[in-house]
Amino acid sequence: MTTSAIEAAINLRKTQIEKVLKLLSVENPSPVFKDGTKWVRTAIRYRMDQERIDNLTRQREQEWQEVQDYIDTNECKMVFLARSLDDPQPHPCGRCESCIGGPLVSESFSHERAVQAALFLRHAEFPLETKKQVSPEAFLEYGFRGNLPLTLRAKSGRTLSRWGDAGWGAFVKEDKHAGHFRDELVDAAVEMIRQRWQPDPAPVWVTCIPSRKHPQLVPDFARRLAQRLDLPFHAVIAKVRDNQPQKAQQNRFHQCRNLDGVFAVTPNPPMGPVLLVDDVIDSAWTMTIAAALLRQAGCDAVWPLALAESSTGD
Ligand SMILES: [Zn+2]
Repeated sequence: MTTSAIEAAINLRKTQIEKVLKLLSVENPSPVFKDGTKWVRTAIRYRMDQERIDNLTRQREQEWQEVQDYIDTNECKMVFLARSLDDPQPHPCGRCESCIGGPLVSESFSHERAVQAALFLRHAEFPLETKKQVSPEAFLEYGFRGNLPLTLRAKSGRTLSRWGDAGWGAFVKEDKHAGHFRDELVDAAVEMIRQRWQPDPAPVWVTCIPSRKHPQLVPDFARRLAQRLDLPFHAVIAKVRDNQPQKAQQNRFHQCRNLDGVFAVTPNPPMGPVLLVDDVIDSAWTMTIAAALLRQAGCDAVWPLALAESSTGD
């Protein structure tokens, strides 16, 4: 099988699949080998070497304990390191936290500095790029294959924060659990759109990603945002089929397949550039597909906007 065929067969991250195959291929004798782009099984029945795993685990735990001891020690940090590296005559460095007897960096700061830092964190939005290439066999219903044509892609959007971060992310996390996004987040999004993002051509209406689990949460936020932007809100995307949480999908095939046939755009949506709002995004596949459906329905520009990103990387 190719790696992408394995991705379709099991819901594991691609990097995980590759790591496992690499690990197995250097076993001796090995249960797999690579033939061109395909992985092939050998007749070897693989057995996990539990003893080796236990040894490695013990070794890592020991190393972790050493790092803890390094952090906790009151003796010179350099002496500690030098001794760990078998230096027979370690000397105190005179420069580390232990030698100085206090923190290396001053812990006092001015009020002005604190305000600057808070502002920095609250202006820490970043681009939201949707996906360009779909998994070849995943969209049986929608029919998307390979590279998404430019005519179906979203513009470069913005994400306001990282889930739980010290800027807006903490509010997003708190409010998502509480079931209502506070007005401050609406204000923050408006300020970000008007002062810094300035999408061009400017959106002339607002829509959002629907959810069956929390049917009011995102539409309520998007509606208030639209109001503040003096734009109409239209809920034109419907969730027509339940699916698994997108967060639980570990690789591209599963992330795509989980969205196939899930959303539908009502016929004849309003014309003109649209702001597409969601609260928390992970891999951005939901935004990608919702934008593609909006564009298929005739929207000429889709600007994605998310309140937070919770991705842990592919
Ligand atoms: Zn020292």
